[in-house]
This record gives sequence, structure tokens and C-alpha cells, in this order.
Amino acid sequence: MESNRESGAIVIAADGFSGNESLPRGFDWRGFDAYLFDIDGTLLNSRDAVHYEAFLIAMQELYGRAVDLTGVPVHGSTDPIILLKALEMAGVCEADGRATLAEAMRRMCTEVEARSEQLRPELCGSVEKLLAELKAGGKLMGVTSGNVERIGWAKLKAAGIDEYFSFGSFSDRNETRTEIFRWGAEEARRRLGATAKVCFVGDTPADVESAKACGFAVIAVATGIFPLLDLAKCEPDMCIPGCETLWSYAR
Ligand SMILES: [Mg+2]
Repeated sequence: MESNRESGAIVIAADGFSGNESLPRGFDWRGFDAYLFDIDGTLLNSRDAVHYEAFLIAMQELYGRAVDLTGVPVHGSTDPIILLKALEMAGVCEADGRATLAEAMRRMCTEVEARSEQLRPELCGSVEKLLAELKAGGKLMGVTSGNVERIGWAKLKAAGIDEYFSFGSFSDRNETRTEIFRWGAEEARRRLGATAKVCFVGDTPADVESAKACGFAVIAVATGIFPLLDLAKCEPDMCIPGCETLWSYAR
């Protein structure tokens, strides 16, 4: 398996098939009404430290102490959970952290927006092609992200893809990823009708688990920090190295 992965040939589809990526199998990725995308590691990777530094600045200003994110899980997490965990590790109890959580998130947003020209989002391969194709096909597109809303939109805008998305579900309204995903799917169905078919796209085991917990399909892309085989173990409906592979699965 490892040698296949290194050769870039491995693709895993819904039926567990792996190998020749030219063979379409099983999962009809075009057959949904709405597509809900995670941001970091899925649509883009930030090649800057603006969001990270906003955490540090907000915590320094609000809690009067230098706090860093060393040892705090960030991939697949959400901004409020990251903040609370970092504060806990710095000796701030959860009650005190929660008392100023909304203010800390606002401070982070102000920081990121003030430095928006320093944002360096790198789009993941074929993301623009995919978004354009889905848009041309009349699909509804949204983002479901652990980012605070204003920060999420700032990244999408800097990447030039914000206008593809009709709505977003972020960590201001809901704290956990599963709640964020559930709200996003419900919003898609509010807009399209109760039977609309929804598919999530994400890059972490947490994305796969949240989509499955909500009862919806999920495509896992290995464009973040998680290798393809780690994602495959979570059994997403489709597991691919990146969006560019999707067209190998044309119906
Ligand atoms: Mg992600």
C-alpha cells in the first residue's frame, strides 16, 4: 500500500476499490443538490500566520498573559474550542475563558481583518475548477468551518472564491464541528427543500466523523495534513488525494 501511495496512484472509492484511478466506481459525486466545504486544508491552505497570531494577540490582550498553541489540537477543531483549550493549558479556568470567549473571538476577527492584505491563501488543486463546475450545474454551495465567521470569509475573499458560496456555518453560532455541520446541512435544506441531497467535503477525520454523525455523505480530500490512508480508515463515502482526482470518477 505504501509504495502505491508514494507513486501517487492510490485512489479509494466508496466501495473500497483502490488502484487504477481511471476507473469510475460506486459513488456519484455529482449527484447532490448542495455541497458544504470545510475551508482550511480542503479549499485552501494558509501560507501566512495571521490567523494563528490573532489567537495569541487576543489571549495576550484579554487575559494578560502570553499563551501559545503548542500542544493544542488545531486541525479539525474549531476556534472557540482551540481558545478554551489554550487558556486551560495556561491556567485560565473554563468559566473564566467562557466569560470572555465572544470578546476574544471578536478581537481575533478585528486582527485578521486589519491584516487581510497579509493573508496568503493557497488554493488546493482544482478547487476553482470544481467550484465553477458545481456553480454551472446549479448546485448550492456553502462553507462549514471551525473558523469564526469573519475570519473564514476573509480567507475565502483573499483566495478569490468567496462569491461561490451562498452561506456559511461557522463556530460563532455553534461550537463543535458536528453542530456546525448539522446547522449547515439544515440551512441547505431550508433553502432547497427537506429532501435535498447534501454532501460534505473535508480534509480531517473530524470532518468525516461529523458528516457521518449528521447522516450525510462526505468526500475526504488529503490536501490538509492528514494522509489519504488515515482518512480512508474513517470510511468516508469517497477518499481522494485531491479534487483533481474527481474527474476520474465522471459518470
Ligand atoms: Mg480542515
